[in-house]
Amino acid sequence: MKFKGLLIRKDSVGNISSAIEDLELIQSEQMDTLVKVDCSTINYKDSLALLGKPGVIRDYPAVPGIDFSGTIVEVDSKNFNVGDSVLLNGFGMGEKHWGGLAQYVKVRSDWLIRKPENLSHRSVMAIGTAGYTSMLCIEQIKKNVSPEKGSILVTGATGGVGCIAVILLSKLGYKVIASTGKEDKYDFLKQIGATEVISRKELENKPKLLEKQKWIGAIDTVGGNTLSSVCASTFYDGVVTACGMAGSIKFEGSVAPFILRNIKLIGIDSVYRGIDDRKRAWQNLSNLLDNDIMKKISEVISLEDVLENANKIFNGQIYGRLVVDLKD
Ligand code: NDP
Repeated sequence: MKFKGLLIRKDSVGNISSAIEDLELIQSEQMDTLVKVDCSTINYKDSLALLGKPGVIRDYPAVPGIDFSGTIVEVDSKNFNVGDSVLLNGFGMGEKHWGGLAQYVKVRSDWLIRKPENLSHRSVMAIGTAGYTSMLCIEQIKKNVSPEKGSILVTGATGGVGCIAVILLSKLGYKVIASTGKEDKYDFLKQIGATEVISRKELENKPKLLEKQKWIGAIDTVGGNTLSSVCASTFYDGVVTACGMAGSIKFEGSVAPFILRNIKLIGIDSVYRGIDDRKRAWQNLSNLLDNDIMKKISEVISLEDVLENANKIFNGQIYGRLVVDLKD
């Protein structure tokens, strides 16, 4: 069977190129399920893979796409049937294994999540790894601080993780401070639930050991000085979740906020979380989100538009989420 998909190749001198090609399935005993993809998406990590940045794709040639949703067309498992609507995020898809930016994908059935009935394929891909990661961060915020204790800061707020975090936190009754570098998106952030918007510049410089206390919790997608600044301004007993590196992978902070203000810094990985954590997170996402809000923060593009948009994501020019339509 031939089908259309994006393929990333590496030539003999190490140059990376991506193009839409006619593909054939790779046979693997591990992968017991064939899914016809309805939608995929471009996360920040996909943009790194598509632009040939190191550290994402393990073996070339490779199909990128860490997330997809679609319909099962072949399955060898008692837990799923042909015709089931499913989704998958992470587990090394689009990194170690051929991913979702193609019309068909072979996967392990025990990595699949049933698509929530109240959400369309488009909506679950507008959520994707980004929204799932927001939920993993929010679970930690909820465990540690309640809404009446103070505001929660979200950095990189117009990005995928950021804007879904803003929506979810406001639905859960938290006051949200959104930090962004996009001056023209303050109204957008307020419309989706931010109570206050601040400029990303306020957090970009190396902070003092301790700064004025401003938030009781934070979801940081940026890293670098931003994460250090976030920690230095977190109230006593507060919690900071670190999930991203859109600004920098480095983190040079002082221990002062930890030993003098008792704050917690919690790392979040979405890729290899167990299936029970995933099911719980997706259940909570489907309880709090609906097709209308996901439409408001996402745009649908075709496979042909993926490369151009990967560049825009890498350069921080996109707000909200991109859904890639793979239906024929
Ligand atoms: P997006 O590209 O959608 O958003 C990133 C946002 O970060 C941008 O919209 C921008 O927001 C801000 N930003 C971009 N460049 C810079 C910069 N140089 N300095 C400061 N801010 C910047 O990415 P995602 O939301 O999908 O992902 C965000 C981060 O989280 C990425 O680093 C990604 O790799 C990581 N991630 C980690 C996961 C995990 O498992 N730990 C899972 C998913 C994502 P604004 O203009 O509003 O400031």
